[in-house]
Amino acid sequence: MKILVINAGSSSLKYQVYDMSSETALASGRVERIGMDSSILVHEPHHTDETSEVSEILDHTTAIRKVLDKLTDAEVGVVKSIDEIEAVGHRVVHGGETFKGSVLVTSEVKAEIRRLFDLAPLHNPACMMGIKAAESNMPNVPQVCVFDTAFHQSMPARSYMYAIPQVLYKKHKIRRYGFHGTSHDYVSKQAAAVVNRPLEDLKIITCHIGNGGSLTAVQGGKSVDTTMGMTPLEGLMMGTRSGDLDPAIVPYTMSKEDLTVNEVNSMLNKHSGLQAISGTSSDMREIEEGMQNGEPNATLAFEMYEYRIRKYIGAYAAAMDGADVIVFTAGVGENSATVRQRVCEKLTFLGVEIDQELNKIRSKEPRYISTPNSKIAVLVIPTNEELMIARDTYRLANNAK
Ligand code: AMP
Repeated sequence: MKILVINAGSSSLKYQVYDMSSETALASGRVERIGMDSSILVHEPHHTDETSEVSEILDHTTAIRKVLDKLTDAEVGVVKSIDEIEAVGHRVVHGGETFKGSVLVTSEVKAEIRRLFDLAPLHNPACMMGIKAAESNMPNVPQVCVFDTAFHQSMPARSYMYAIPQVLYKKHKIRRYGFHGTSHDYVSKQAAAVVNRPLEDLKIITCHIGNGGSLTAVQGGKSVDTTMGMTPLEGLMMGTRSGDLDPAIVPYTMSKEDLTVNEVNSMLNKHSGLQAISGTSSDMREIEEGMQNGEPNATLAFEMYEYRIRKYIGAYAAAMDGADVIVFTAGVGENSATVRQRVCEKLTFLGVEIDQELNKIRSKEPRYISTPNSKIAVLVIPTNEELMIARDTYRLANNAK
C-alpha cells in the first residue's frame, strides 16, 4: 500500500509518499507561498534529483493537484497512477480532549476539528484546508488524521491542570495538551528498541528540540508530563518563542507598552526566544557561531536555552522517580553536539556520563552518546513524524477495508 502524508500550514504544504511494504519514503516535497504570488513547489523524488517550479498556486486544492501531477509524472513521478495511493494521512496540530489517537476522517471528525479552531486558531484551520483539498482531489481514498496532542492525552490531571479557577477548564477547556506527540511517541519506541528493553519497563525523557521544542516524561510508553501547554508557547526557550515566564509579565507589558492582545501574542511567539536574546538569529547554528566569536548576547542566549533543557530533565527525573533513557531529537537535538554536551555535563548527579567522541559523530542512525558506565543511557534518535503518520494511516485504512 502507498500512502501520501500531508502536513498543511496556512500558506504551505509538506508531503511524503510511503511504500508501506518496506516503510520507505519514495518522494517528499513542499509547496510554499500558497495564495501569494510566485508560489513554489519543490519535489524530491528519492530516485533522482529534486525539481522545483514557480507558478501561481491560489489554494490548497490546486497545490495538492500539482503535487499529484508530480507524483505521476513520467520522469520525476513515483507512481504510475494516482490510484496506487490508497490512503492519505494528515498531521493535525490540535485534537483537544476528544482525540486520544488517530482517526479516519468522517463528517463528525471534521466538525470536531472545526470546534477546536478556538484552541489552535493558526494551525487547525490550515490542517482543515489540507483535508478538504485532499478529499476533493482524491474523493474515494480514506483520509486519516494524526494529532500532535494525542500522545499526551495519557497525562494525569496533576500534570495537565493549571492552578487557576476550575471553571476555566470546564467552560473553555483551558489545560495542558502538549504537542510534538507523534515525535515523542516515535523516539520513545525507537529508544526501547535501541536499549533492547520493553518499553513498558522504561522511564524515558524525550527532548524534541528544533525551532520549536518540548520535553516529555514517558513512563511505560505513555506521556506523563510535557513542557508545552495549552499552546506550544509554554516550557523551553525556543527559536522565537519565550517559553515559561511569569504570567503577570503579560498584563504588565501590555499596559506599559500599550500593546494589544495580538501584539503581545506575536511578541511572545515570534519575537522572543533565541532571536530576542541574541538579537541576531533564532538558528542555533548562528548562536553557536556567535558564542565561539565571544559575542555576549549569543552566549547568554545559548546558556539560557541549554539551562532550561537541563532544568526540565531534572524535573522529569523527579516526576518519574528516575530515568533510564534520555533521547535527543529534532534539528538541534540531532545536530548540535555542543547543546547535547553542555546539557549532559551537569547531569552527573543523575549518573549521566557522555562519551565525547560518540557525541561528535554525525549520523542519520539512532545511536548512543553515553558511556557503558552511564546510569542513564543517552541516545540521539532522528525523529520521523511522517513515518509515524504513515503507519497509523496504513493501520486505520486497512481496518476500514
Ligand atoms: P527543526 O525545527 O527540527 O527542523 O529544527 C530546526 C533547527 O535546528 C534550526 O533552526 C537550527 O537551529 C537547528 N539546527 C540544524 N542543524 C544544526 C546544527 N548542525 N547545529 C546546531 N543547530 C542546528
